[in-house]
Amino acid sequence: MRKRIIAGNWKMYKMMDEAKSFVAEVKGRLPETELVEAVICPPSLFLAELVNQSEGTSLKIGAQTMHDAAEGAYTGEVSPNMLADLNVQYVILGHSERRQYFNETDESVNRKVLAAFANGLTPIVCVGESLEEREGGKTVERVALQVNKAFEGVSADQAKEAIIAYEPIWAIGTGKTATAEDANDVCKEIRHEIGKLYDKNTASAIRIQYGGSVKPANIGELLSMEHIDGALVGGASLEADSFVKMIEVAT
Ligand code: 13P
Repeated sequence: MRKRIIAGNWKMYKMMDEAKSFVAEVKGRLPETELVEAVICPPSLFLAELVNQSEGTSLKIGAQTMHDAAEGAYTGEVSPNMLADLNVQYVILGHSERRQYFNETDESVNRKVLAAFANGLTPIVCVGESLEEREGGKTVERVALQVNKAFEGVSADQAKEAIIAYEPIWAIGTGKTATAEDANDVCKEIRHEIGKLYDKNTASAIRIQYGGSVKPANIGELLSMEHIDGALVGGASLEADSFVKMIEVAT
């Protein structure tokens, strides 16, 4: 059985004090369970502090992006080995906001996925179609291409450990959630694609999250679907209460 994974993507929100209060509150309230992983992905400035603060608890910490090089003259960037050195465990890669505003491409996402594995980080690889692509019947084609590109050069053993987040762009921050059936259909196609790239075992091991306006009120229905193993949550992950509620529902 696949372990569920609920990850909060804080994007560019919160001050350090707020981030610390969130972790202080959440760590005492997370249900004791082997069935669900709880991850918070704060702005990179807060990573070191939050990793320290959550040590010894079940809360895990992830980054929202990284460069693919180990070091270099790349002003403003953080490297995979810097993250690994801080004991960060996850890294979100290829989020649609990174693709849209920071010129990330399928090729750069692939380089980052390879760099994440090389440094012992677990990538949360984001894929998803635009509204135009959905309305043009291109959802599966778009998402399949993103998956194929992102996993170029990744071994089956590595792919089994990866997380894919299916985030339809039109559902992010809009209050519009894909229906659980529609989300499940695309997650099933993603799993099918992984099966074609690797094998059945890899396809059934890889964990696929849904993201896009997930909140305590709709997470239960989404998680009840066969191919949805978790959620990547933006807005609703900013409040400790709603984050804990979502973990409870997932448990
Ligand atoms: P919202 O949950 O705010 O729609 O954001 C989704 C998202 O982009 C998570 O990565």
